[in-house]
Amino acid sequence: MSRCLLVFALIVPFAAYSQKVPKQSQVNIQKTSLSRDQEMQLGKQFAGQVEREMEVVHNPDIEKWLNQIGQNLAKTPQANAYPYYFKLVNDDSINAFALPGGPMYVHTGLLKAADSEGEVAGVLAHEMSHVALRHSAAQISKQQTYGTLFQIVGLAAGTLTADQNGQCGMVCQITQAGTSLGQNSLLMKFSRGYEHDADLNGARMMSSAGYDPIQLPQFFEKLEKTQGTAAEPKGLALWMASHPATGSRIKYVSDDIQFYPQRTYKASTGDFARIKKIVATVPPPKPQPGKLIQPKENASGRTTVPAGMKDYPANGFSIAYPSTWQAGQAEPGGSLYVVPQGGVSKGQNGGVELVNGAMIDYYVPQAGAGSTNLDASTKEFLDGLQKGDPNLKTEKSQRVQIGNKTALKTRLTTKVSVQQDPDQVVYLYTIARPSGLWYAALAGQKSKMSDLDPIFTQMAGTIQFPD
Ligand SMILES: [Zn+2]
Repeated sequence: MSRCLLVFALIVPFAAYSQKVPKQSQVNIQKTSLSRDQEMQLGKQFAGQVEREMEVVHNPDIEKWLNQIGQNLAKTPQANAYPYYFKLVNDDSINAFALPGGPMYVHTGLLKAADSEGEVAGVLAHEMSHVALRHSAAQISKQQTYGTLFQIVGLAAGTLTADQNGQCGMVCQITQAGTSLGQNSLLMKFSRGYEHDADLNGARMMSSAGYDPIQLPQFFEKLEKTQGTAAEPKGLALWMASHPATGSRIKYVSDDIQFYPQRTYKASTGDFARIKKIVATVPPPKPQPGKLIQPKENASGRTTVPAGMKDYPANGFSIAYPSTWQAGQAEPGGSLYVVPQGGVSKGQNGGVELVNGAMIDYYVPQAGAGSTNLDASTKEFLDGLQKGDPNLKTEKSQRVQIGNKTALKTRLTTKVSVQQDPDQVVYLYTIARPSGLWYAALAGQKSKMSDLDPIFTQMAGTIQFPD
């Protein structure tokens, strides 16, 4: 009898047998040609870009709470030991995203849409899983765009001149401290396979951290169900675009949960209700520098500009410039350059150096945009420039009126990396604005200043602010 059973067992086809024993799905960390260090460097660059365009909410209670949840998830084995950090951005669309290497941003709209701490933890765990499983890094290296990510896209053809010795002058350094990529490239859409893996890895991460993992797919499906309702069409479209539906999330996460060790899920800061109340009091976002220097949509410019000049109507100011010059950003979200032919050169390290022409941007003081003060912030800005440029000499600032605002005008001298005629004169105008210290650097090689001086004076006279 027993012998008979044994024979029977042996002849059961393997495939039929294995169907009866469920196996836990495997989740893979993607292979990528980016090193962990490169991932983190990219993440840092993207983060700079994000924070120039979106307002980070500096509220100690919310920051502490988000990081408490996030760091609890970050120490699980599923988080793959990246240096995660968590910031709240002032945007009422429902979204959250993590950048390669670990910076993570949660929209105010997401916290407003969540009904429990576990739902927020679920979104963090899912987004962190994209980082841990190296999804962005794999996608970037697959698209072969990463070679260009470390470079600067370049102004309109013809304005760039090759840099002789690869050195980087003052204005070049300002640019490098700036940003890199447009948002479109950051908010990448992942494949269904990646989404599925991020769900499973995220659910396992939640379980390891003591959160009920089923809240992850439940929240995602809740958001999917409300798609198209009048309440949040824009936000949900954004969320759905970066998180395509992958079939029943609840179903496949439930299947996965069968394999988790039995435990009761007790993780909670106990602060969710209090934090929701604080989030509801955050005032609407102030426009950020990255937006303010972009050209205003559908604006045709002022008709009152001097003859021979064109207008650049930006969201935060207007300036006119000679019509033979070009205006544009060397990189999405970066500083505005207004230059004649050959006015900027490109350094070997990827930076753009202003040789002749104007560069306009905002400097956000270390203590935040709200602390902007004309004298103190100008001094902080100049001190920073001086640290990065040993050739830089500054003269005493003068108070002048620019576009009905009180400005400081500071004459600087430095050297550019152009071998012939490296001495450069810069007139720096600074004005305190709600979003930071607005500045225009009007710069030229010393030998060209007799031509440039009257142009700069004329340009400065056309600067206007909308208020
Ligand atoms: Zn996702």
